[in-house]
Amino acid sequence: MGKNIILLGAPGAGKGTHATFLKEKYQIPHISTGDILRSHLGRATELGKKAKSYMESGQLVPDQLVIDMVADRLKERDVQNGFILDGFPRTVEQAKALDQILSDLKININFAFDFDASEDVIVERLSGRRSCPKCGAVYHVRNIPPKKQGICDKCGAALTQRKDDEEATVRKRLEVYRKQTAPLIDFYTKRNLLHKLDANLNVETLQKELAKRLASG
Ligand code: AMP
Repeated sequence: MGKNIILLGAPGAGKGTHATFLKEKYQIPHISTGDILRSHLGRATELGKKAKSYMESGQLVPDQLVIDMVADRLKERDVQNGFILDGFPRTVEQAKALDQILSDLKININFAFDFDASEDVIVERLSGRRSCPKCGAVYHVRNIPPKKQGICDKCGAALTQRKDDEEATVRKRLEVYRKQTAPLIDFYTKRNLLHKLDANLNVETLQKELAKRLASG
């Protein structure tokens, strides 16, 4: 079975952390639309300028901008042995566009994992989340602390908190998730691709569960 994977779930449910695990275990690219967009913001590209105000207020960037970005990324050769889509699709419109992009490339999705976490857990995770502005590694002040406080284990840069992880923006992002992204659970259930995961579990237990499902897929 191929490893063309979609990760669904609310912000803070653990998609990014588990995407890093899957990327290393299966040597397949991790395609995070949030990371790509943040890199555009950092470089102040045209796309970055268009996306900035949406991202900072916790809203979704308009579908077409993200769809074009993903369509370009999926044309690259490194996706041939599999890929992890993290944070895309986020609307039914995007899911339909993804179907079209993949059918043009003659690729199928093999798994859609839904990380299901309670709202309390999400708020706790996001408020403690810290990330490395240089290499993108993600930590949590209590659950996944770096060896040296405030410093990235991988590259030594000072860790930062994402602006959109502040409480008011987190609430907005959760509302956007419920309204616009949660319907995708149905979308992929109907295609027999959905695997629900209990994202309240700790990282190691969930990693084992993911590997088991991927092996038996
Ligand atoms: P993330 O890192 O996945 O939480 O994404 C951070 C922000 O980037 C989101 O709150 C959105 O503003 C934007 N974004 C990321 N992926 C998408 C997407 N598929 N569609 C629209 N906006 C997105």
